Amino acid sequence: MRTIMHVDMDAFFAAVEVLDNPEYAGKPLIIGGYKDSPRGVVSTCSYEARKYGVRSAMPLSRAAVLCPHGIFIPGRMHRYQEVSEQVHSIFPEFSPVVEPLSIDEAFLDMTGCEHFYSSLEEMGLALKRRIKEETGLTASVGIAPNKFLAKLCSDWRKPDGLFVLRPQEVQDFLRDLPVSKLWGVGKKSEAVLHQHGLYYIRDILPHSLSWLQARLGAALGTQVYNLARGIDDRPVTPARDVQSIGHEITFPEDQESFSFLRQQLAKMSEKVGWRLRQQGMYARTVSIKVRFGDFKTITRSHTLDYSFHDDDTIFREALHLLEQVKLKPVRLLGVSVSSLSTGAQLSLFQTETSPAAKLTEVMDAINRKYSRGAITRGRTLMGREEGAEK
Ligand SMILES: [Mg+2]
Repeated sequence: MRTIMHVDMDAFFAAVEVLDNPEYAGKPLIIGGYKDSPRGVVSTCSYEARKYGVRSAMPLSRAAVLCPHGIFIPGRMHRYQEVSEQVHSIFPEFSPVVEPLSIDEAFLDMTGCEHFYSSLEEMGLALKRRIKEETGLTASVGIAPNKFLAKLCSDWRKPDGLFVLRPQEVQDFLRDLPVSKLWGVGKKSEAVLHQHGLYYIRDILPHSLSWLQARLGAALGTQVYNLARGIDDRPVTPARDVQSIGHEITFPEDQESFSFLRQQLAKMSEKVGWRLRQQGMYARTVSIKVRFGDFKTITRSHTLDYSFHDDDTIFREALHLLEQVKLKPVRLLGVSVSSLSTGAQLSLFQTETSPAAKLTEVMDAINRKYSRGAITRGRTLMGREEGAEK
């Protein structure tokens, strides 16, 4: 039997804003853009704003109608990223097996660590206390025998919540939840289940595996059959098993200036490089993603015959890819690296002590010592950045 802990920061972007701007405390705060921003959507909102019906992904114009006196701000992605790194750096103190899920969420496999705590509740509280002490922010924690259940549990008592689900309580807990709570059940498959009169998880239990497979397809049918019984064998997959590391920015206005895009690319390349090195990884492929004002999205990749983890290589390759794209107004720009490995395969002419590698090492050391971003290269200065919570 496993013990899985899911941690999810509460209204993360809004909470960081309140932390930095105490005058926002207790007020409806809406992050995503200014009130009169024509096409923006809400990326996060405070619990006070949620009382007015404001939700993530809602058009800002709608949020402005629901909550006209709300505080609307575009958000500061770099700051959220910084606090996120602070939060994520705490998890390894609790478990060697951590799977980062998003900027403010992670799974921790606590199997075998239970005896360090007087109870599972105390285990969850210890993590919550540590996050609060380190960042001043609250998190919600769910503890359960698997990932699916742990994620449901962290949501159960939000905000500042803690919920522990023991194996013998699983069936009762699931029974009355709507089928949409099952992973993989989206709008379409939800409609299929409703069509057959299955609204709650308890309604699924009388049906056989083959019955579900015939209606939902083999893969989803199996998943729904198992999850409805609280069965989920997916392991917590540590960060080094990730397939790619990337960063992207959605601009508040479409951007056409190549020098601006180049600057953004440089900034993101540094972030991607930093994360790559933090995880002790090397990459061989660089990709860029460009979404135009009309939402048409393209990706371009290039794979090198050697592995790298320095910002310069990422930036050089990304820039080269961008130069080959016929530009029109750009809405979103992203850089990622893939073909990851834990060891370097050096090219014939490259050595670990190349000037670029040396510079990267020195910059990382300084950035680790002081806060992130203490040193950046000239090409990223003047950059500005806004983004949405993913
Ligand atoms: Mg969250």
